[in-house]
Amino acid sequence: MSNFNQETVLSVHHWTDNLFSFTTTRDSSFRFRNGEFTMIGLKVGEKPLLRAYSVASANYEENLEFFSIKVADGPLTSRLQHLKEGDQIIVSRKATGTLVIDNLTDGRNLYLIGTGTGLAPFLSVIKDPETYERFEKVVLLHGCRHVRELAYGELITEKLPQDEMIGEMVSNQLIYYPTVTRDPFRNRGRITDLITSGKLFEDISLPALDAAKDRVMMCGSPALLVDTKKLLEDRGFVEGNHGEPADFVVEKAFAER
Ligand SMILES: Cc1cc2nc3c(=O)[nH]c(=O)nc-3n(C[C@H](O)[C@H](O)[C@H](O)COP(=O)(O)OP(=O)(O)OC[C@H]3O[C@@H](n4cnc5c(N)ncnc54)[C@H](O)[C@@H]3O)c2cc1C
Repeated sequence: MSNFNQETVLSVHHWTDNLFSFTTTRDSSFRFRNGEFTMIGLKVGEKPLLRAYSVASANYEENLEFFSIKVADGPLTSRLQHLKEGDQIIVSRKATGTLVIDNLTDGRNLYLIGTGTGLAPFLSVIKDPETYERFEKVVLLHGCRHVRELAYGELITEKLPQDEMIGEMVSNQLIYYPTVTRDPFRNRGRITDLITSGKLFEDISLPALDAAKDRVMMCGSPALLVDTKKLLEDRGFVEGNHGEPADFVVEKAFAER
């Protein structure tokens, strides 16, 4: 049996010149935990061209959703950005990854720190009822350069609070904090600076990060991960992994070439 399924593209949404999302059919055998990534791609000639992608839809949803960058000379995304309804893509039958709440020990509040397409895994984590059962408040931080790159804001602030299954939990427990570095906006600055200065905690009316109580997941550029990891470790947070749950978990949003 092949390790891959062929899925059909159901919809495509372009957020900016550099970012788009698309949904596909989902083979009923494809299982994943919220926060995980899988391999997706296209057939180029006879060969599959595959890349790692976080699943942006929740594991109980009928279809799959992905949130993608467009890299002008990127082998996959220079092609993938032209997807249209009815096209076929390849999706691995397996998913994996560290950004699952089982890799965290119990705590008070959960911080989800994503930059750019690093938001994707958290879109499924914030749709998971278990996230709200395990944590009091769930703080979703999304950092970008420009306001137009803050994709999914409307889903998070308008659609999810109305959702039949998780709407009440989202309304009471989810705090969404988008921030940009290069445009005027209500929240400005790098996530690490907002944490270090305490501005974030003032704005969201929560106590500063505490390793005894708070848990963190992060997904972003390699540089963001280095800085945020150091910031957490300086405050006594311990990194968790498969089979070894701890205070925070990390996943790269992409690998440097
Ligand atoms: C665990 C994991 C999960 C990932 N999840 C996603 C996802 O959900 N959505 C997504 O768009 N990409 C994701 N990626 C990146 C993805 O695998 C590809 O790199 C991306 O689709 C570009 O593919 P490409 O073949 O066009 O270019 P590549 O040759 O793969 O990349 C070229 C260069 O573009 C830059 N780049 C690649 N991806 C990104 C990105 N997402 N944001 C900013 N710069 C980038 C990097 O500098 C990279 O070296 C993930 C990567 C990893 C390791």
